Amino acid sequence: MIAEQMNPAPEDNPATTTTRRPIIAIDGPAGAGKSTIARHIAQYFGLLNLETGAMYRAFALKALGENISLEDLPSLAALSTKTTIHLEPGEEGNRVFLDGVDVTGKLRDPAVTDGASRVSVHPQIRAWMVRLQQELGASGGVVMEGRDIGTVVFPHADVKIFLDAAPEVRGLRRYDQMGQTGTEVTVAAAEVVQEMHARDERDRNRIDSPLKPAEDAVLLDSTHLTLDEVVARAEEIVTEKIHLQARA
Ligand code: C5P
Repeated sequence: MIAEQMNPAPEDNPATTTTRRPIIAIDGPAGAGKSTIARHIAQYFGLLNLETGAMYRAFALKALGENISLEDLPSLAALSTKTTIHLEPGEEGNRVFLDGVDVTGKLRDPAVTDGASRVSVHPQIRAWMVRLQQELGASGGVVMEGRDIGTVVFPHADVKIFLDAAPEVRGLRRYDQMGQTGTEVTVAAAEVVQEMHARDERDRNRIDSPLKPAEDAVLLDSTHLTLDEVVARAEEIVTEKIHLQARA
């Protein structure tokens, strides 16, 4: 639970008083707390929260359903031309529509999680996703979370936060979260840590858009911070950056 916090008064909200609605990029590895922080920042500043990982998950779900090998780029590329993915931001996170059908409840399955990380290494698939994400965020007023938002999708984002935490801490948080979100916990904590480590390695070492902080990102390490402390720091970063830009 995040401690109850007042939203800024409309006239003090830097995200709505500046002329152009901001783009806020939140990147980082799995389990660093991106979704929670992005959702909070979006609510606090009155912006839309877009979870780009959900788009890779939806595409992996479709490829798995069609029995396409996740290494078979030509087939995946052909599949992408017959696929629509739509995100609907909400207070509890995004609802995800794959070819018009709400698949939100299917995206946390371990096979889909692993599949998302596999389809996301292919440059052609990334180029398609990046285009969709750029369209979604084009008019601003968004908090977009992912792995490459500050580096590739919106390299000119108004605020870039790279949220990180020690691998063991991220693994255990993700394990706890699986219980909370009702995902059947059939795997041991050690397996979750191991699976996350494998995804991280793939994300950090892929040739196209590897996971890394943008040069101008603010690093926020949550290893030794409570959720409330991370939220408070993220709010500060956004407020400072947007005020600075308004004065520039
Ligand atoms: O953020 P989430 O865990 O839902 O992302 C699922 C997978 O999608 C990640 O492990 C990563 O490989 C991929 N991804 C990506 N670029 C993004 C968002 C997610 O490569 N912007």
